[in-house]
Amino acid sequence: MYKLAITGGIGSGKTTVSNFINDNYDSVYLFNADKESKSHLKSSLSIQHKIINVFGPSVTVNNKLDIKKLAEVAFSDKINQDILNGIMWAEVFILINNKIEECQKNKISLFIVDAAMIFEAKLNNFFDSTLLVTAKKEIRLKRAEKRHNISLEQIKNRMSLQLKEKEKEKLADYMIQNNEDLDTLYKNIKDFYNTILPS
Ligand code: ATP
Repeated sequence: MYKLAITGGIGSGKTTVSNFINDNYDSVYLFNADKESKSHLKSSLSIQHKIINVFGPSVTVNNKLDIKKLAEVAFSDKINQDILNGIMWAEVFILINNKIEECQKNKISLFIVDAAMIFEAKLNNFFDSTLLVTAKKEIRLKRAEKRHNISLEQIKNRMSLQLKEKEKEKLADYMIQNNEDLDTLYKNIKDFYNTILPS
């Protein structure tokens, strides 16, 4: 089973790429780290308690963890983000490993993790390869603005906490530039897929 990480900054198009591969090829399992970590957080009282212990009442409403307040605190500065990531990544890594075991038993050919922070979490060497989806900053801002229900200011802030594109380019095994239309993106994805898993 080939293990692939698909990463990129906010609004780059990494989820579009991951979904395209998942929808168009057989025997693929897609693990969306953002979605899985959110649902894990919602269902795990012990992680919620850990987070409340660290950040205190700034992340609670009526003594319960409030996800919106947590996002505001976690994306307000690098230290807070690193603390939260330290708690969440350890958990997400366990979820990924469990899923990998299950997929191996089910003879899945390609296991994909879609995650913004692969390099920041130093998880890149865990995979057979990493694919960086990248686009010009103005384009990423426009796309992210369309998709996320947050202000341009907040998007810029989140972007500033992510590793710079140039640094990611140095670390990535493969790269797809996503500055054009969706048809161009789909063609580039097919070329990429044929490179890593030629038929
Ligand atoms: P985030 O980190 O913000 O979740 P992402 O990197 O996963 O973002 P996507 O969700 O894949 O990015 O894409 C962001 C938005 O841009 C989506 O609405 C998607 O449909 C759109 N998009 C992606 N690529 C293109 C493209 N080449 N042309 C037009 N729209 C695009």
